[in-house]
Amino acid sequence: MSAVSSDPQLARYSFQRKLQEISAVRGRATELISLYVPPGKQISDVMGYLRNEYAQSSNIKSRTTRKNVMWAIESLMGRVRAYKEPPAHGVAFFVGSKAVGADKSETVTFIVEPPEPLNTYLYRCDSSFFLEPLLSMVHEPDLWGLVVLDRAEVTLGFLRGKRVEALRNRQSLVPSKHGRGGQSAHRFERMIEHAAHEFFVKVAEMSGELFLPKVGQLKGILLGGPGATKEFFYKEGFLHYELQQKVVLPLFDTGYTDEHGLKELVEKATRTLHGLEVTEEKRIVQRLLAEIRKAETGLAAYGPRDVARALELGAVEILLVSDGLRRQLVGLRCSSCQASVSQTLSDEELEHLDAVPCPQCGATALSEVSREDYVESLFRRAVDSGGQPRLVSTESEEGEMLARAFGGVAAILRYPVGLTPAAPPKLKGAPG
Ligand SMILES: [Zn+2]
Repeated sequence: MSAVSSDPQLARYSFQRKLQEISAVRGRATELISLYVPPGKQISDVMGYLRNEYAQSSNIKSRTTRKNVMWAIESLMGRVRAYKEPPAHGVAFFVGSKAVGADKSETVTFIVEPPEPLNTYLYRCDSSFFLEPLLSMVHEPDLWGLVVLDRAEVTLGFLRGKRVEALRNRQSLVPSKHGRGGQSAHRFERMIEHAAHEFFVKVAEMSGELFLPKVGQLKGILLGGPGATKEFFYKEGFLHYELQQKVVLPLFDTGYTDEHGLKELVEKATRTLHGLEVTEEKRIVQRLLAEIRKAETGLAAYGPRDVARALELGAVEILLVSDGLRRQLVGLRCSSCQASVSQTLSDEELEHLDAVPCPQCGATALSEVSREDYVESLFRRAVDSGGQPRLVSTESEEGEMLARAFGGVAAILRYPVGLTPAAPPKLKGAPG
């Protein structure tokens, strides 16, 4: 699903999951190979390097290790050869023999195309895979919109991580209140107000151009400036409604409305920013709780079963998934009653599938038919039915509640679907 794979939240989640999986692999000896190929590197050079390593590895004393390392390099050469040139961000390979159980090992291969460009060529053979260059890419910098204004000037920009980017500036044509004589005070006042209104409309237009294309990534909009103009601008709702919702309260006082003003704004906001990081998630979870409190008429579903049903009905507007959710959606077949069922299982339950009872007949005779990461499957189903999935961090109080009380998954619905937990669905009379 292209719509799903292009979702930046899900891409980051999948990347993070993959790194966790790779970092859990342990070799019995120094026999796990990590190879980083940056963009622009000649594939023929990499092949030459690997051939040399292969020749060297024939000197390894331990027979098992030698065999495993030589296998890994051979396998690696096969993978590398498949590339004409490295992808845009380069590519990292992790190949080797993973220790499983007492005396066994199984071969593993991971190929990762990172979200940011690799900048070094690196070959390493160790008892675990080398992940440092990728780990630093897990957290993408936060993006905030910045606006400082008064009646004379506006400056807009972004705060990306810790970097302030000033991108638009405009002076207004609003005359000073201590303006020219000669005109009637009343008429002059009206003219000023008209010009100010035009200016605020223009500011809103500029904000839309700059912020709306990135509205999904924006953590929030910081709005500041000297005096009361910013409050007026905010309260009158000049901004596009999607942007208006992103404005962080309180608004911030600054002395300037130029690039210096943006820096001042960030300095003032930084003191509260850490707490603000989770503001948007908080707001959504609180909306969910308000819906849940309305009971049957509420636009909410929670827990894996009810959310699955709401997704099936296409009723999900916003899907909330805890980033602490670590489960697989597993297709199972029971060899006792022949039922085919799907269940969400933890990795631990999956490893001891022989202890999981069949939900139909209770026999412990289940075997795995298919497997998908549960979070990815939820994202896919939400996007397919026109819903908007959101990953909620467990770092906030609300996020923790989502993980603990709702099994890590809940949804805000477009319409009530009459989910009645632990009871059969209500029968509705035929229309007409
Ligand atoms: Zn069964």
